[in-house]
Amino acid sequence: MQGAAGGGLAARSRYPRGAYRGAPARLTVLSGPSGVGKSTVVARLRRDCPWVWQSVSVTTRPPRPGEIDGREYFFLTEEQFDAMASRGELLEFAQFAGHRYGTPRAPVLQRLERGGPALLEIDVEGARQVRRAVPGALLVFLAPPSWEELVRRLTVRDTESKAVIGQRLDAARAELAAGREFDVTLVNTSVEHVCAQLVALMLADAGEAEPGDRCASQRSTADLEGTWWQGLRP
Ligand code: 5GP
Repeated sequence: MQGAAGGGLAARSRYPRGAYRGAPARLTVLSGPSGVGKSTVVARLRRDCPWVWQSVSVTTRPPRPGEIDGREYFFLTEEQFDAMASRGELLEFAQFAGHRYGTPRAPVLQRLERGGPALLEIDVEGARQVRRAVPGALLVFLAPPSWEELVRRLTVRDTESKAVIGQRLDAARAELAAGREFDVTLVNTSVEHVCAQLVALMLADAGEAEPGDRCASQRSTADLEGTWWQGLRP
């Protein structure tokens, strides 16, 4: 499938290791409702583009089966989280579905100072805080192809109770309405496609993606004419 970068990540050679040399030292924030597929997109991006550095968040949520401390998250107690927040060690933090999540400040700043691109995968409230803290950050919103697809993804995941899924769907309704606050919106029609678009954005010179741009793929835009997505446009 054609993407914004002109092809999918299946063609690994499109993203040589040296590609990062041309990537600006900019903070890219990938956000969007829980269940939209952010972590799948980021996992694919990290596999195919090892030059993409991603922040590891701290959270008070208990680990899911298979999650490893220091890889998916640093799993903290409430007290540990409070201590980090009160010492100003978090670039942003937010409460989501009964748990707290935050981005450790120092590793992100070190990465940017060293001159490399950095990626955060966080919720909408956190993205708003990054907008204020790091004015040059590029905020990318990942939207589902439809509301039904988001409900399906959250329901089949089978890692959360019905009550938690309900909380996440409530949060998703509010988060979808926030899409217009972002610089770029990508519709998650396929992991390959979104990865290619993200890589293109990270490699683009800062300033090319102006606030208010909409970067939905041609296919997505056509598919979504006259659907719920139209209602989210400013
Ligand atoms: P999950 O519990 O499914 O791993 O994540 C729940 C939500 O928290 C997701 O929307 C995820 O993007 C968000 N999240 C993960 N890390 C952070 C973070 O450091 N800060 C904020 N604000 N949200 C985060």
